[in-house]
Amino acid sequence: MGEGRFDAIVIGAGFGGASCAALLARAGRKVLVIEKNNLAGGKTMSHARKGFRYSPWPIIGAPLGGSWASRLVADLGIGEHARLVKVQGRSMYRTPDGTFAPMPSSGSDALDPNVLFDWLRVPAAERTAVLEFMMMLSLMPPDEVAKLEGRDFHGWVQPFGLPASVHAFLVSNCLDDMYMVPSDQLDCAEAVSGLQKVLLGGGGQFCLGGWGVLAEACCAYVGAHGGEVLTGTRVQRIVIDDGAVAGVETEDGTIHRSATVISNAGIQPTVLRLAGARHFDADYVERIGKLLPSHALVGYRYFLGEPVLDYGYSVIFSNTSAWSRQRFEDAHAGKASREGFVLVEVPSNYDPGHAPAGRQLVMSASMCPADPEMSRDDVKAWADAGEAILFAAHPELASRIEEKVLYTAKSVSNATRDAAVPGAGGETIGIAQIVGQAGRAKPSIRTPVEGLWIVGCDAGGTGVGTQQAIESGYVVAEAVLG
Ligand SMILES: Cc1cc2nc3c(=O)[nH]c(=O)nc-3n(C[C@H](O)[C@H](O)[C@H](O)COP(=O)(O)OP(=O)(O)OC[C@H]3O[C@@H](n4cnc5c(N)ncnc54)[C@H](O)[C@@H]3O)c2cc1C
Repeated sequence: MGEGRFDAIVIGAGFGGASCAALLARAGRKVLVIEKNNLAGGKTMSHARKGFRYSPWPIIGAPLGGSWASRLVADLGIGEHARLVKVQGRSMYRTPDGTFAPMPSSGSDALDPNVLFDWLRVPAAERTAVLEFMMMLSLMPPDEVAKLEGRDFHGWVQPFGLPASVHAFLVSNCLDDMYMVPSDQLDCAEAVSGLQKVLLGGGGQFCLGGWGVLAEACCAYVGAHGGEVLTGTRVQRIVIDDGAVAGVETEDGTIHRSATVISNAGIQPTVLRLAGARHFDADYVERIGKLLPSHALVGYRYFLGEPVLDYGYSVIFSNTSAWSRQRFEDAHAGKASREGFVLVEVPSNYDPGHAPAGRQLVMSASMCPADPEMSRDDVKAWADAGEAILFAAHPELASRIEEKVLYTAKSVSNATRDAAVPGAGGETIGIAQIVGQAGRAKPSIRTPVEGLWIVGCDAGGTGVGTQQAIESGYVVAEAVLG
């Protein structure tokens, strides 16, 4: 039996669990956080290697203005430990003639339409119509946005007949890499509200030392406010007595007691494994089991002998890189191109202290199925498709690589959530924000078992991965506090 009793136990210190735990501690609750890794952060957990310190893969915070991360840092007063910075990115548009055109800086966080139109080569005759569309999209009131729930973004945007480059910018440069699902599956209300935030608020927020530092700071806050944080400790089972939560059991058999357990381990692993299907009715279990994950991101960490790239982050895209459901499935079967957007992050260009002098780390990411059981060759084919685009954009890169490390959907699953259903576990975000799984159709933060809550990307939040995890942390903390 574990020592003492806690007001709440939080399983997992990803952004959802860590933020929720800290907010409960701020409200005076005695909280126990149990994290299976040795560090907090989950999908954002900071890594250190050969004098480099970095997020495990490219993680671009967006929006910049009004970000949940900024609010959390301010509310907890942890800005000294988790230092958030604004980084000027440089998206790259591969034009139909094959040249890579970097996006010019507009000098402000919000997007300047003229800069955008010149860069995307929008013909003069079409600019007024595109501008009207962008204004309508950016300024659509929340009640109108909400009415788009249940439709897919592609079906909604298609009739506007946007120029191919503008469509590519919105879908491939923005939505595909914000939500990790093709736009003909993506819920339109999620898509439009997400676009509004980045078009008006900009993107490119990072945390010095890697985003994981923010989750570490939340856990330190819990420790300093009457709680406890156990790292390197896996929860094996959620203890349920007479239909209500009673605590958790860790893998060494210790039982920690609380009537409130908040799980950041993913809704499917929580319901189907940690709690166990027998505690829920068959309809709930069936619904949870059928939820689809977002796709994965896979790519390489390139350790370079000298600095090559001069930007902090980039998204490379073209008129043909936007994903559709069919092309993604065909690509998975080896029958269609694997060309998609490529995310690039160069941490030492915004955080020079985190690379040895004169060296550089470049990280790439491109979309891939979330199945952690995919063969290494299959995963490599996806990562190599992204690499080919990266090297085409930066021909000088390949010869400067001293070491490259592949990360896969399996790496993501190992570091974060278990695969509780076939094909899931390596997802970039969590439950996909697709039609039928977003907005009012998103799983509830409350489970049918009294006292068992879900926090993180699977419930309670909206928007881009890191943002919706923290938003969920706020929503769950507020609901638990009553
Ligand atoms: C390759 C990649 C690139 C990404 N890029 C971006 C980006 O550019 N921008 C962006 O906003 N987001 C990005 N994301 C997504 C973002 O990182 C996630 O959406 C977000 O961090 C998820 O937070 P979470 O709280 O839902 O869960 P997680 O981060 O999955 O955290 C869950 C935590 O629970 C712990 N846990 C699980 N089971 C147990 C157990 N049984 N016992 C104890 N602990 C347990 C895990 O170890 C983990 O720490 C990216 C993700 C990946 C993988």
